Amino acid sequence: MLLIKNGRVIDPASRADAAMDVLLDGERISKIGAGLAAEGAEIFDARGLVVAPGFIDLHCHLREPGQEISETIETGTRSAARGGFTAVCTMPNTQPVNDSASVTRGIVERAAAGASVRVWPIGAASVGSKGEALAEIAAMKGAGIVAVSDDGRPIATARLMRQVMDYCRALDLPVIDHCEDPSLFAGGVMREGAQSIKLGLKGIPSQSESICVGRDVEIARLTGARLHIAHMSTLGSLEYVRAAKQQGLNVTCEVTPHHFTLTDEDVRYDTHYKMNPPLASRADRDALIEGLADGSVDAIATDHAPHHPASKDVEFDRAPFGITGFETALALGLSELVHTKKISLARLIELFTTGPARVLGMERKIAAGAPADLTIFSTDYEWTFRAADSPSKSRNTPFDGRAFRGAPMATIVAGRVVYRREAAATAK
Ligand SMILES: [Zn+2]
Ligand SMILES: [Zn+2]
Repeated sequence: MLLIKNGRVIDPASRADAAMDVLLDGERISKIGAGLAAEGAEIFDARGLVVAPGFIDLHCHLREPGQEISETIETGTRSAARGGFTAVCTMPNTQPVNDSASVTRGIVERAAAGASVRVWPIGAASVGSKGEALAEIAAMKGAGIVAVSDDGRPIATARLMRQVMDYCRALDLPVIDHCEDPSLFAGGVMREGAQSIKLGLKGIPSQSESICVGRDVEIARLTGARLHIAHMSTLGSLEYVRAAKQQGLNVTCEVTPHHFTLTDEDVRYDTHYKMNPPLASRADRDALIEGLADGSVDAIATDHAPHHPASKDVEFDRAPFGITGFETALALGLSELVHTKKISLARLIELFTTGPARVLGMERKIAAGAPADLTIFSTDYEWTFRAADSPSKSRNTPFDGRAFRGAPMATIVAGRVVYRREAAATAK
């Protein structure tokens, strides 16, 4: 048994925010209340810390199987645990693509053998994510997928999207789309605008994303399926999602920490600023923050996309898209959203817990009988992120060396402490 004493328990599901103790018994929460005692239990002193339901990341790339030079399930989930995540959804664009039950089973088995946190695979929508034939979605569901997506690219055509949604509606799986119009994207490397002209880099107009979001919302209307927009980055996309929600469609979306923190004005000739979707305009960024505040955005997701240093250490045009993200996500949320009073602390927690859980059709709460998955963090702990200290195999982040206030202090999965920050050793 593990007794977490004196923490500030914030649970969006029950709207609780109070000093309470939480007793864990095996893989489940057994009791919550003031002044709990349990003979023989190990004590975790959470004085001054927030105790939240376990964080869920809806979007990451663990690169296994096939790209273990950049990340593995073992290294990626150790990084996730340091970021306070207790469960991560891993995208199917591995080698081979996760488009069959046998690949899904392989991921589940590797996770069972060596992952620090829960790994929930996302299956491909189409065979090889090539946008032609439907993947074995039902068989993959049997093997453990929680959603489908062709992430890395959009679900290729409206017709295919209709088939995928019809199928996933029957299976009650969310369809996650990486929204872009390839004809507008057309070899671009950053958001089109004054900065792309200044840098002489080929731009991608924001409509590349929003056109595809609009298409997907219309097909969600046609089919009644659950649609989730991945890494939404523009005001135009947000307006489609807002309208869809008002009309009662099953449409949800996520925003990444880098898109609510940085803008295209931050882009320089440094491939750690190259991601897809690209960093957007200031107006887009401000709109995303409004959406995070008012409930239009359902979740914060990292899109943790590790790339081996050699592949990013090339010209901007030639580098792959993507940055790592697990270990800076909470700290960016606290620094950029909560300390600046743009959203409340309870809302931030919701965006990491009940919000993503709802997208997956799950519950997330601190209650007797619930899984003992908890994220314990400080809102004030001062530290500096050093990419070199990360257990991830990759270092591609624009936040290396950034000073933060607030950090995950412990991550508990199924009653087991899988990460604990040694505060004294790394302070300031
Ligand atoms: Zn994507
Ligand atoms: Zn992705």
